[in-house]
Amino acid sequence: MNMLVSAPDSAAIKSRAIALGFDICGITGADPSSHADFYRQWIADGKAGEMAWLARDPNRRADPRAVLPGARSLIVAGLNSWQPQPAGRGRVARYALGDDYHAILLEKLETLAVELVRAGGQAKIHVDTGPVLEKSLAGRAGIGWQGKSTMLISPKLGPWLLLGEILTTLDLEPDTPQRDRCGSCTRCISSCPTGAITAPYQLDARRCIAYLTIELKGSIPEELRPLIGDRVYGCDECLDVCPWNRFARRTRETRFHAPEEDVARDRLHALLDITGAEFKRRFARSPILRVKRRGLLRNVCVVLGNIGDSSDLPALEKASRHEEPLVREHAAWAMRRIRERIGLPG
Ligand code: SF4
Ligand code: SF4
Repeated sequence: MNMLVSAPDSAAIKSRAIALGFDICGITGADPSSHADFYRQWIADGKAGEMAWLARDPNRRADPRAVLPGARSLIVAGLNSWQPQPAGRGRVARYALGDDYHAILLEKLETLAVELVRAGGQAKIHVDTGPVLEKSLAGRAGIGWQGKSTMLISPKLGPWLLLGEILTTLDLEPDTPQRDRCGSCTRCISSCPTGAITAPYQLDARRCIAYLTIELKGSIPEELRPLIGDRVYGCDECLDVCPWNRFARRTRETRFHAPEEDVARDRLHALLDITGAEFKRRFARSPILRVKRRGLLRNVCVVLGNIGDSSDLPALEKASRHEEPLVREHAAWAMRRIRERIGLPG
């Protein structure tokens, strides 16, 4: 595996990224994203819900040069996260089945960034939470296009890429931008369980199950709970139905693979009983840590309310006395819903 040497060119950087374990890498200039105005309007319309960090510093998000003065190029690298969904009750979004991708992407990007600095440039890394409008810039870097679902679709790997970026002062040859290849397809829009894709390329995050089960901290609006179905954490629906899945393949990053003791298996009752210490140990390296125990248990209650039967009532009964009011409220809702379904008095 050759490290980068002085004055690397675009081809050398991209092949180094692939050698470091990325599945795809592209390069674009560091000029602002053309989606900046659209993004500002999206925030102004309140469609980001409680995700306040997205509204912070919109100019920095839209213009990479505000993040690294003197930046000339943006390197966008993607890791494929697709893997089969494990059997059992309750689905977890595929990217969240194994270890948190932030740490995995950062480790690879840091190695590449150190080499860029040794080769004479300055470099700054971003993963997901960084102030860069990454999907539109990834399109410009030739990695994919932002589909009608608003997700990035790769013509080589489908819709499962997790992205990281390196801004650099090096002047690198850019890739050809990807064109939109959604055509007349509208599968992601018609299959969204909550109608969160309100029009092509328009996502109302406040209705999106990924938002409701991960970002929303409090009570999930009752009218949306039935639509969550069996999704314990996140949602893959608009990705699963995309016809570009014909190019999806299993991730080669083994740290993304689901461990044996997985929430996607039939462990929903065990999860309802999990202690704070057990939760921290079990999910120490998982993105699920982010929703905290009460958020996960809230989601488990909603799922049991949607798919459970009388055998789930004792576990929910216990959860309805949980120390967290959020869990108690959702457990009570789930019990009512199961009773209604099986014809027991509430
Ligand atoms: S992640 Fe799920 S809820 Fe969100 S837009 Fe896609 S299909 Fe709809
Ligand atoms: S499902 Fe169809 S419309 Fe949606 S992103 Fe994929 S190709 Fe585009």
